[in-house]
Amino acid sequence: MDSSAPAASKKPGLAKTLVAATLTAVIVFLLALLGIYTRAAFDLASLWPANAVLLGILATYPKANSPLTWVLAACAYMAADLMTGTPLDQAALLNGTNLLGAAIGLAVLQLWSRQFFPMTKPSDVVRLFLVISAASVSTGIAGGLVAGPLFGIDRLDGFFLWMATEFVNYGIFLPLVMAGRMVKPRQTAPGAEDGSGAAEKCAALAALAGSCALMPLVGGAGSLVLHVPAFIWCSTQFKPRTSILLAGLAAMWILFAVPAGIIPLYVDHADLASHWDVASFRLGIGFLALGAIAMVMINAFWLDAHDELEHRANHDFLTGLLNRRQFNKTAESALMRQKAGTPNVALAIDIDRFKSINDAHGHPLGDQVLQSVAELLTAGLRRGDVLGRLGGEEFAIVLPGAGIEEGTRVAERLREAIAAATLQHGNVTIATSVSIGIVEFHSPANLSRMLSLADEALYEAKNAGRNRVVAHKSAVLLQAAGA
Ligand code: GH3
Ligand code: MG
Ligand code: MG
Repeated sequence: MDSSAPAASKKPGLAKTLVAATLTAVIVFLLALLGIYTRAAFDLASLWPANAVLLGILATYPKANSPLTWVLAACAYMAADLMTGTPLDQAALLNGTNLLGAAIGLAVLQLWSRQFFPMTKPSDVVRLFLVISAASVSTGIAGGLVAGPLFGIDRLDGFFLWMATEFVNYGIFLPLVMAGRMVKPRQTAPGAEDGSGAAEKCAALAALAGSCALMPLVGGAGSLVLHVPAFIWCSTQFKPRTSILLAGLAAMWILFAVPAGIIPLYVDHADLASHWDVASFRLGIGFLALGAIAMVMINAFWLDAHDELEHRANHDFLTGLLNRRQFNKTAESALMRQKAGTPNVALAIDIDRFKSINDAHGHPLGDQVLQSVAELLTAGLRRGDVLGRLGGEEFAIVLPGAGIEEGTRVAERLREAIAAATLQHGNVTIATSVSIGIVEFHSPANLSRMLSLADEALYEAKNAGRNRVVAHKSAVLLQAAGA
């Protein structure tokens, strides 16, 4: 009765809900058709992605999880079955079990929290396993109950067959749908990629494709795991999302190729003989797919931890700038990349009378001044310039490829920006300034020599009254000689 006001304010939300529900239903419809047709083509290759994709969508995009989506999804399942000639009562029973599994999977997934992903640690794969198990066991129980009357199969056989089929499909398709949100994207600094080139990526992919192609030649149960080493190699070469896709593709290939007779499973009879064989086969492939996902997650976790540690080792904790060691390394390699004879500029920067800021306002406020100076310096530089905090209130910058005139312009701009800025803390206003020494060196340039001459110029700037930029006299000489 009081719903008119909220309903009016939720209008765009309703439109979005409608779009999300319709899109989900269309996807379910198409995937149900795919399942029905592949089931007809290869009797045992039951590829049924619809349930896992539905659960994946509802879990990944909570906006799509509305009663309308459930209703439209149910209609989509029914439409696909009725269009392909399944009797109404049979279609209703089969699709009831499909929806039940997805609903139970979603409920288990939400037991932990509504915000299930991204996964942050390898043990989160256990949660994924529990979700998949809950969805497939519940579908298996319901399927087993209806299988008897429908297909004349023993209830226990029906349960295992159904459960295993759901398990392998959830194991492949749920991670695929959720891959985008499953892993936190890595914050890799530019230039700090793990160095695997296109050639190694191609080689890893070729190894995976090659080992999948080897399966039909080798045959037998052992052939089903031939791709595992190549997959592990791929997972070290590709992003987690791509690796999850590759794991899914390999599992799908096996799931198709064995029942289609492309990979002979046994030497004597190339077929899966009983319902138990089929269930065991599907369960095994499901576990193989989940094992692959676990590998990807462990890899992603360690790479993330490694990046984090590397970042901490290379950066100053307070300002986030490069620390002295990493500044030297980065600046040296930037200078080395310059052609012989190219001018380069080094700036030595020191905050003026910083001790008195600490004395007057306390160390924590002094820290804030350091942070705001670091931000202003960062904001005033281009990509390719190298900035670091060498210690205390001293910073250094290398501008590869810049001459003394350009360097002085940059230094003046930075000095002015810092002199103009103030830090407001309660009713205290803190202003500060920097002195900058600058020197030009032509490549090949020696960084430590550059920095020590820039320091000499900085000393002159301090003596001349602070809050100024002074070029080293050798730089001026260089200019005169070059002119
Ligand atoms: P000048 O203009 O000659 O450079 O004077 P100054 O006071 O800046 O120079 P001085 O070298 O005498 O003082 C530097 C001060 O910087 C002393 C030290 O306590 C302070 N300092 C160094 N590192 C930090 C830090 O991480 N945080 C804070 N708050 N202060 C720091
Ligand atoms: Mg100092
Ligand atoms: Mg100082």
